[in-house]
Amino acid sequence: MSLELFRKETREWLDANCPQSMRQPIKKFDDRFWGGRNPKFASEDQKIWFERCLAKNWTVPYWPKEYGGGGLSKEEYKIYKEEMKRLGCRLPLFNFGISMLGPALLKFGNEAQKSHFLTKATRGELWWCQGYSEPGAGSDLANIQTKAEDMGDHYLVNGQKVWTSYADHADWIFCLVRTNAEGRKQSGISFLLIDMNAEGVSTQPIRLISGKSPFCETFFDNVKVPKENLVGVENQGWTIAKYLLTHEREMIGSLGEDGQKVPLHKSAIEYVGTENGKLKDSILRPEVARWSMNDTIFKMTLSRSMDEIKSGQSLGAKSSFFKYYGTELNKEKYELLMSLKGMEGGEWEGENSNDGEIARMFLRTKANSIEGGTSEVQLNIIAKHILGLPSIR
Ligand SMILES: Cc1cc2nc3c(=O)[nH]c(=O)nc-3n(C[C@H](O)[C@H](O)[C@H](O)COP(=O)(O)OP(=O)(O)OC[C@H]3O[C@@H](n4cnc5c(N)ncnc54)[C@H](O)[C@@H]3O)c2cc1C
Repeated sequence: MSLELFRKETREWLDANCPQSMRQPIKKFDDRFWGGRNPKFASEDQKIWFERCLAKNWTVPYWPKEYGGGGLSKEEYKIYKEEMKRLGCRLPLFNFGISMLGPALLKFGNEAQKSHFLTKATRGELWWCQGYSEPGAGSDLANIQTKAEDMGDHYLVNGQKVWTSYADHADWIFCLVRTNAEGRKQSGISFLLIDMNAEGVSTQPIRLISGKSPFCETFFDNVKVPKENLVGVENQGWTIAKYLLTHEREMIGSLGEDGQKVPLHKSAIEYVGTENGKLKDSILRPEVARWSMNDTIFKMTLSRSMDEIKSGQSLGAKSSFFKYYGTELNKEKYELLMSLKGMEGGEWEGENSNDGEIARMFLRTKANSIEGGTSEVQLNIIAKHILGLPSIR
């Protein structure tokens, strides 16, 4: 099929099948369908949209067909994304099993793991969380201490993870564990998949400044994990960990790719109004214009870089650039929205502010430049791997 025809058919299919309410901007947690063993749909439209995409193999359109993906070529997938964006369609399914674990399994998983877990991912049957950070291992991730002892047919896992997003909702966790305490710390790490229902796994929510508890401490107390849940080679999980992080950073950096966000200038007009075709607030006017230009340039640069890589491949160190700039840009956006809202921006509860939507998002964005690796760490990676600057050590 020609790309022109593919665009026409995609446009028509999306228009005919995506319910109007699924074309609205994402505003809250359950505006996304996360899947899981006990899936919860926030509305009938969300269910319809997911099921229609599932029937067309378009929950993950760029994955291979044998795992339930749509098998789209890179060019077709680009068109699909453009048409989704044009109509403002939300993703039918959002899950770390797709955005983070999936690419790692496609590259490093064995056939049994791919066939089992990727198929479940495209069908939205499992909710995944990420077990990387520990109390003593954040930026210095290779310092993880959660131990997995080889017990013959299984590993015995003991230790603690922290900041595990949605661990209290998740069915499975992809986890970095220490399988060798000797030598270089990067050389004793393995990548394990653990069922959150396994005996000995427990979670404890952590409350954030925004009043929400999106993440948890996760504890492993003598958890038996079958050997078949090891991805790749024992003690060589660091390579997988880093590869997965490039996909996580790409996902975090391209905030706003999922569904249509209300453009900043539209919110600005709504909040302060216009006079003679210009935004009324003459101090914030150039700030909104500057931000909008930077955002456009950022999106164009991201799109160009995605064009340069093969379908499903990672941006490598460049993901740090997009993670750094995209998250700083998102923080700036909410600083501006708070200024544009004036006194009302601080409202925390009530119908008028949709229960403090802007204030809570403003606080939430502060975490954008921490999660998935801090901005300082991204700058270190950019300095070393993109600019080729010498290390101080
Ligand atoms: C909202 C949110 C969700 C998260 N979700 C998850 C999750 O699902 N799973 C998971 O495993 N983790 C998760 N994290 C954890 C996240 O990956 C870590 O917080 C992050 O990597 C930073 O580690 P840390 O908090 O230990 O800070 P630290 O590493 O202690 O850093 C403290 C400060 O020191 C700076 N710093 C440290 N080292 C350097 C250096 N070499 N050069 C320059 N500056 C440095 C940092 O930039 C930072 O400002 C999440 C975090 C947040 C905020």
